[in-house]
Amino acid sequence: MQGRLLDRYEVRLPAWLISLILHLIVLLTLAMLTVPARPSFHQVLWLRTDHHDQVTIQPIVRLEMTDPFLLDNAEAREAPIESPLTFPNRITVRSPLESAESDSSALDRSVQQMLHNAEAAASSSQPMISGGGLQGRSAEGRQHWGAVYGATPASEAAVELALQWLADHQRRDGSWSFSLNGPPCNGRCQDHRHNPEQLPAPPTAATGLALLAFLGAGYTHESGRYAEHVDRGLYYLRGQMREVEIGADLQMGSMYGHGIATLAVAEAAAMTGDQELRGMTEELTRFVLAARHEDGSWGYTPGTPGDITLTAWQIMALRGAHRLKIQLPSDVFERTKQYVDGLSPDQGLHFGYRKPEVSKTPTAIGLTLQLYLGRPPHNPAHQAGLRQLSQWGALPNNVYHNYYATLALHHSRSDQWQQWHPPLRDYLIRTQEKRGHQAGSWHFRDHYGDVGGRLYTTAMAAMILEVYYRYLPLYDQAEFPL
Ligand SMILES: [Zn+2]
Repeated sequence: MQGRLLDRYEVRLPAWLISLILHLIVLLTLAMLTVPARPSFHQVLWLRTDHHDQVTIQPIVRLEMTDPFLLDNAEAREAPIESPLTFPNRITVRSPLESAESDSSALDRSVQQMLHNAEAAASSSQPMISGGGLQGRSAEGRQHWGAVYGATPASEAAVELALQWLADHQRRDGSWSFSLNGPPCNGRCQDHRHNPEQLPAPPTAATGLALLAFLGAGYTHESGRYAEHVDRGLYYLRGQMREVEIGADLQMGSMYGHGIATLAVAEAAAMTGDQELRGMTEELTRFVLAARHEDGSWGYTPGTPGDITLTAWQIMALRGAHRLKIQLPSDVFERTKQYVDGLSPDQGLHFGYRKPEVSKTPTAIGLTLQLYLGRPPHNPAHQAGLRQLSQWGALPNNVYHNYYATLALHHSRSDQWQQWHPPLRDYLIRTQEKRGHQAGSWHFRDHYGDVGGRLYTTAMAAMILEVYYRYLPLYDQAEFPL
C-alpha cells in the first residue's frame, strides 16, 4: 500500500464553508466559557497545498479538546497557533530495507548489509556501533532472526494477538490513550490505572508506544495488514506537532510524550524512506536537542534536570535520528554519557534513577543506555552488570525493567541470553489474556503498570517478544548467512 501519509485526509474547503466553521468555533468557544476549565489539548485541522517541489501543511482551525487524563498544562493551552510546516515534496526513495527485500540473491543482500553497516559507521562520530539496524523487521528477517535468537510460533502468535488488541483500541482520531474508559474500549478492559489524573500521561506517549509495537514487527503505514492503523497514528502525531522556535514539540505534558513519539516517527521513516516523516523527525530532533539540561540529561519539561528513564527515551530517539543521517552535534552522546556515568556508584555496573545507587530498573536502563552511548559490550563493568541482571532475573510485575534488561542482554550478545529470555518469553505467553474483549493484552500491577495501565503494559510486552528481530544487536556485524 503506497501513498503519502496525508492523502486521504486532505482538506479542501470553499471559503463559505471555512467561514461557517470559524463561526461555529466562535459559538462553541463562547458556550464553553460557562463550562469549568478542564485539562485540555488542541486538535488542529490542516490544509495541505502541493506545489511543484514542496508541500505546505497549514493549520486552518485549532480546536481545544479536553482530556481528563492529561495534566493541566498552561503552556500548551496558551501556545500560539502553529505556523505552516513546509516539506519537500515526496521523492520516491527506496529504503535500504526495501532494496534488500526486493533482491532475491542472498549474496547481494549480504553485500548490501555490509555496505549499509560501513556507511552507518562512517557517518558516526561515535565508537563503532555496527549493528542496531531494522533489517530484521522484514517478513524474511523476522523469520530468520526470530529463529536465530529464540522466537517460537507461540511467541509470534502472542505478538500478533497483542497487535490486534492494540489495533482494536485505537481511537477515532488515530491516537491511543492510556485511559481505556472512553471509546472504543469504554472500560471493558480492566485497566487498573491508579490516580491517573495525578500523573502526566500524554496521548503522544501512548500513540508512540503503540506505533513502536507495530513497527517492531515490521508493520508500517505503507505495508502490512495494519497499514491504515499505523498511518492514522502517524497522522495524529503530525497533527499534534507544535512548531516552536526550537523545533517541533510533541510533549503534551511531558518529555515522555516527545521522546517516545519521536522514536516512533524516526523508525517509520527509516523503514519506509518516507521523506515527509524524515522531515518531521528533523524538527522533532531539534526540540530534543534543545530540551536537554546542561548536565546532559532530560527532565519532564525542557531544560529541567533529568533522570535515567526520561534520558533513555531521548537517546533512543536521537539514535533513531542518527540512523536517518540527521545531523547531530558531535558531542551529543558524549555529554549524556558523562551524566549516565555519574549515576553509577561502581564505574558502570549498577545505576540509580537520579543519583548513584544500586537500583534494579535503573540498572537495566543504564546498561542499555550505555550501549547506545557507545560503551562496547566487552567492557568489564558492563559484563558484570549483565551477570547482575541475570542473577536478579526477570521481575514478574515490572514490564519496564524486563524490557530494558532484555534489550541490554540482546544488544550485548550476552552469554546470559540463553538463561534470560526463554523463561521471560514463556511467562509472557502464559500471562497474556487469551479470551474475550481483553484477548491479546497484559496487565501487571506495579508502579509503572499503575501509571500506564493495560495499553502501556501490552505495548511493552509485545516489544519484549519482538526483541529477536526488532533491532539487530548493536555491536554485531549481523548478516544473513551466505
Ligand atoms: Zn478494552
